[in-house]
Amino acid sequence: MEVDKENFSEWYNEIVEKAGLVDKRYSIKGMHVWLPYGWNLMRNIDNYFREIFSQYGHSEVNFPLLIPETEFRKEAEHIRGFENEVYWVTKGGGDELDVKMVLRPTSETAMYPMFSLWIRTHADLPLKIFQIVDIFRYETKQTRTFIRMRQVHFFEAHTAHETYEDAENQIKEDIEIWKKIADKLALPYRIVKKTDWDKFPGAVYSIGAETVMPSGRSLQIATFHQYGQKFSKPYGIEYLKEDGTHDYVHQTTFGMSERLIGAIIGIHGDDRGLILPPEIAPIQVVIVPIIGEDKEKILDEARKIKDELKDFRVHLDHRDNYTPGYKFYDWELKGVPLRVEIGPRDLKKNQVVLVRRDTGKKFSVPRDKLHERVMDMLERIQRDMTEKARNEMEGRIKYTDDLEEIKNNTGVFGVHWCGNDECGHKIENITEKRIIGISLEEESLGKCVVCGKSTNKIAYVTRPY
Ligand code: ZN
Repeated sequence: MEVDKENFSEWYNEIVEKAGLVDKRYSIKGMHVWLPYGWNLMRNIDNYFREIFSQYGHSEVNFPLLIPETEFRKEAEHIRGFENEVYWVTKGGGDELDVKMVLRPTSETAMYPMFSLWIRTHADLPLKIFQIVDIFRYETKQTRTFIRMRQVHFFEAHTAHETYEDAENQIKEDIEIWKKIADKLALPYRIVKKTDWDKFPGAVYSIGAETVMPSGRSLQIATFHQYGQKFSKPYGIEYLKEDGTHDYVHQTTFGMSERLIGAIIGIHGDDRGLILPPEIAPIQVVIVPIIGEDKEKILDEARKIKDELKDFRVHLDHRDNYTPGYKFYDWELKGVPLRVEIGPRDLKKNQVVLVRRDTGKKFSVPRDKLHERVMDMLERIQRDMTEKARNEMEGRIKYTDDLEEIKNNTGVFGVHWCGNDECGHKIENITEKRIIGISLEEESLGKCVVCGKSTNKIAYVTRPY
């Protein structure tokens, strides 16, 4: 790496370029080509989504990419929110289409007409589905790999319930699921309720999981939305209740995207490159043979080691034309959590050397303890990465009631806010930053920074990505 992490934005761009995750040279702005290493990482995350959501009773579906304008325009707030950022398909061959279509910017308006056919009675509820697809948004702001894209790899869960209370419980369950996902990805976060002017277009309210990047800016990495009956009414999603009357369903969604990879890169990487959490790393252990006088013997041993470690995602780097030093550099750049070195000296001593990517520490391990020690070490790396990231994030959140201080500094600031819209707009205007939401986890008694009214609510103010 030529740029160090102090210059976060340049560092981020360089690491994305060099680590072999995506190729950014595709000829449409905001769209990239996933390379095998990056796609494997994304797939590991997706597969965990599939596993955990199915444990919680969700089923995977796959909806068409195109949404007819007639369906897209049924919920007024939703249209206002997305109108200026959708791609339109207006022609089929040489013919103008009678009904224009949008490339999905999200799938409410694709799914809910079908929900109205699928849901008949209370016995059909709750309905819990998800899909992992690409969404399209015509971004006019500067794009940034994984973080602000025009084509976004996207996860979306949609649910329908009998009552508002049931939908509330679904959101609680979603946050429980999110905690498990965040642990897998070793990502720290705060849960916030979005302001009314920043909620999802068409939602009753929105909740976000926000992390803090080393630049001091927040990044929203998961969202949870309560829709109540705001979509079920225009889309006619009605069900027959047990008492024989009809009602509209109550709905929720839970969304995540390739931003998670952006967060992992930014939060865990260092001056030498990526550091990937073992739980989702495409390669957990790389074996680098140090070839000396006993070339064949060492390669044989390296192959045996690979075989012994087959429970893990393991790779043997037997490229002939590269030095071990080059290989170390290469796998450090790609963020492989653990390296196994085996050389002539180790062979004689009946040992191998393990090197942690996160700390750089080396350990000699007796040959017959290898499997056990690798397992321990990967678990420890996962834990240590999570803890380090959490501590660093906490260090980037400051508390103040001085709006000028917020205006003149970078970082995330916790301030007392009464929750009133007018006070909120003032906070944003004076600080020239955004309220990313009110904390749902921390409270402290104080006075609203604008009106002085007593409140225990903490709002986070920052420049979000
Ligand atoms: Zn106030």
